[in-house]
Formats: sequence, structure tokens, C-alpha cells
Amino acid sequence: MRKLFFGGCFSLILITAPVLVAQQPPPLPALKEEALTEVDKLMTFTQQMVDEIFSFSELGFQEFETSRYVTGILEKNGFHVERGVAGIPTAWLATYGRGKPVIAFITDLDCIPRASQKPGVAYHDPIVEGAPGHGEGHNSGMAVNVTAALVLKKLLDEHHIAGTIKLFPGIAEELLGTKAFYVRAGLFKDVDIVLGAHVSSTFSTSYAMGDGELSGLVSVQYFFHGKAAHAAMAPWEGRSALDAVELMDSGWDFRREHLRTAQRSHRVIINGGDQPNVVPSEAAVWYYFRELDFAHIKGLYDLGNTIADSAAKMTGTTVDHKLVGSGWPPFFNKAIAEVQQENIEAVGMPKWSDADQTLAKALQKEIGAKVEGLKEKVEPLSEPAKNPTGGPSDDVGDISWNVPMTYLMYPANIPNLPGHSWPNAVAMATPIAHKGSTMGAKVQALTALDFFLRPQLIEQAWDYFRKVQTKDSHYESFLSPEDKPAIEMNKEKMEKFMPQLKKVYYDPAHYKTYLEQLGISYPTTKAQP
Ligand SMILES: [Zn+2]
Repeated sequence: MRKLFFGGCFSLILITAPVLVAQQPPPLPALKEEALTEVDKLMTFTQQMVDEIFSFSELGFQEFETSRYVTGILEKNGFHVERGVAGIPTAWLATYGRGKPVIAFITDLDCIPRASQKPGVAYHDPIVEGAPGHGEGHNSGMAVNVTAALVLKKLLDEHHIAGTIKLFPGIAEELLGTKAFYVRAGLFKDVDIVLGAHVSSTFSTSYAMGDGELSGLVSVQYFFHGKAAHAAMAPWEGRSALDAVELMDSGWDFRREHLRTAQRSHRVIINGGDQPNVVPSEAAVWYYFRELDFAHIKGLYDLGNTIADSAAKMTGTTVDHKLVGSGWPPFFNKAIAEVQQENIEAVGMPKWSDADQTLAKALQKEIGAKVEGLKEKVEPLSEPAKNPTGGPSDDVGDISWNVPMTYLMYPANIPNLPGHSWPNAVAMATPIAHKGSTMGAKVQALTALDFFLRPQLIEQAWDYFRKVQTKDSHYESFLSPEDKPAIEMNKEKMEKFMPQLKKVYYDPAHYKTYLEQLGISYPTTKAQP
């Protein structure tokens, strides 16, 4: 194990550490060393969690097996678990400890449609054809946070340290579906700071808008209602809901040219009618509207509603809409990020094997990406982007505007991948994900210890939150009081694949790793010509 040093006086502290005053915890550097040793001891546990959740492959709002598994572990370890929080059946809140400060951990656990993929195989080879899969890598997040939480629990107990640990799952993050509801339910009211974790190919953290490549958004479904008729015998009797969808889409595309360059919007038609000889009486389209701040996102939302109403008028149909997800643009806390950065640098990158690098390079080559293998260095904490461009979104944004928060990116995946598809699943139940998750757990544990032991840091985090972040911007939810979490989403898709997926759930009692269970030799690459 690599030895880590947290300051020049480390060895002196270690020598004097045994001379303890009753109830006085050991000095922070000694506690941190203990945390690192404890995380290493849990390496097999961490690996099993990564593999187990990978094999569950559950889509947003349908994370029943995953949530049962994770909450089971937490309960067995003395955490109090409250299920079904914020009116979401698969959501929960796990708590351990007493008093202040209250440090919350959050990470996602849902996966991506059609992203099923055999781990360790550097070309497209699904485990179950067409099934969902962890083509984002959310299967590793709980391994990171739960490992860190178990270690922290042990240290808080052993050394009588005051403080409370809370763990949340990011349910249906791929649908941006829940965090605004968590906030609305008041789940973060007593929380001092939030330490989020997300899979990445880098080891990094950021503050403010970071590299400026995240947007906020609303995700809205428009349902048009027309009138059915025989499409050849009496089309004049019908009113086509599909015509309205197509006109809405054309209208939006014409208007797109005259929107700010920071906007991003995209759609899928979720109901295009039943068969051509029936005038479609029902049709629906689903839009994501993304922008850089609340006012502009709201502007796009209003415009979408106007265009939908106009399309309905043109076609003699009616329309109603449903907000199925929303997220503020994430904004992270400088005071926490600076502490976290020191811990990232102290922990350092995982030690990649030749097999890890071979897999990474073979996959990069296979998909036509830049072939550079895995990252070898941690990223520096850089100044936030002056001119954010926007890009994808994450519904942790809503939390970040209510409590000081950071988002740790831990190195458990391969760089230069397209995201949200099978290539992003290739590394996610291999030693790349296992090692990266262990390193992530170390940084989560060390950063929490900093905040448990140095209360002035909590003050500094809130100072930045109040005086800088929310000086001119105030949180306002995109949710109306009538909006409800879209808990029925993905139900049919998940039920369709569940019987096949159950057969390939990871069985840690019989196999050391999921790779072993699937009989995959690591790495599997295409034969070189
Ligand atoms: Zn994600």
C-alpha cells in the first residue's frame, strides 16, 4: 500500500497519537491514515458492490433490486433507513450518527436503455440483447459512498466523534427525475454539506460552474389529442394528433435558429399513432430544453408550451403537458472543492495494470476515439469557465442551490467515450471500475473527516454559499405544486427484460468477480490482423 502524507509533522503526530485524552479523537492526519487503511480493507466489498449493481441493470424509477440490496447492507451495518422518501418508491434515506455536523452523500444508481454490455470486452457484445445496461457507470457510485460511509461510521464510533452521516440515492438521474422533489420534500433542511460522487475517467472536482459544460433543464412530455377516423374512407372526419406533433417539431426547429447559442434542445416521439389507416387520435412528443440559468430555461419551457398550443390550434387537436424532470445548472462550493482537491492529490490515481490499459486502448480504437488509454494523473482544480457553453445536465443542480455541495469525479471509466451507450459500460465491472471506486471512497471519507473535525470549514462553505453563490441568484423550483415524480416511467421496459436479467445477476457467494461468473477473460479484444 502506498504511504500517504498529509503534512510535514505527520510522523511526529503518529508517534504522539497513542497518548489520548479521554473522548478526544486522534489528530486528523492519524484519523485519515486509519480511514485509508479501512477503505483498503473493504476492497473486496467495494468490488462486489460495483459488480452486483452492474448486474441488476435497472432503469430510472425501477431501481427496486438495487435499492433493496444497498439499503440491506446499510441496515445490517446499523444505519436507520427510511424508504419511499419524497413519494418515490425506490428512493430512501439512510442515517447514522448523532448531532452536528450533518454530512450527506449522494450518488446515482440507474442505468441506460439498450446499453447491455459484457464487461471487459472491447467491442459491442450485450449480456442480454436490447436490455438496459450501465452505459454511464452509475453502478459504481454506491460502492464509493457506502464504502466511505461504513469507514466513517467505524471511526465516529471508535473515537466518539460527533456528527451524522446521511446517504441518498440518485434515483432516475438519467431522467433528471428526483432531486427537485427531494428538495421540495425538505430532505436537505438539516444538512450542512453534501458530498456527491459521479463516475468519470478523471480524478477531479470543481467549483462554481466548473468547466461550464453543464446546463440546467426541463424535461417535458406533450400529449396531443385528436379524433380517430378511417384514414382513406373519411379522413375529413379525423383530427390527427401526429400532425400536431410534427408541426410542433417543425415549429421548434424553425425557432431554434433564433435562440441563444447556449440552448440545447432535443426530442423523441414517444407515441406516433397505431397504424397508418387510422387517423392517430393520440400522439406524444418528449422534449429536453436546456439552458444556462433558471430564467432562460423557463423561457424555453414557456416557448415550448406556446409552440405546442399553436400546433394544436392548427390541427384542431388539444394538448396537455407533463413535466417529467428538471434540474438547475449545478453550482459547486469552492470551500469544499479546495479541501477535496487536497485529498484527491493525496490519494492519487489508481495503479492501472497492463490489462487495464490494453482494454482501454482497444475500446478507444474500436469506436474510433483518440487512443490514449487511461489517465495517469489527477486533474488540477482549475478556475471556473468565464463563458460557460453548457452541455449535459444533472439534477443534483437543485441540491447544489440549497446546500453547499461538491461533486467528486472518480476515475472508474475509460476516457474519450461517447456516454450513455454500451462503450461506457465496458469498464464498469472490471478492475478499472473496482480500483477507481476504492480511490473515490478514500477521497469521500477523507473529505468528510476534514469537515467532521474542523467545524470552521462548514462555516467557510456556508460563507461562500451565501455571499458568492446565492448573492444574486435565488432558488426557485421548476416544479409546480401539482407536479409529481414520474414513478411509472420505464416500468414496461424493465418488466420485459427482468426474467433474462435475473438469470445473470452476480452471485458473489460462488464467484469472486462478475467477470469470472460470465467466463470473460480480461481483457477480451478483437484479434489483431
Ligand atoms: Zn450520470
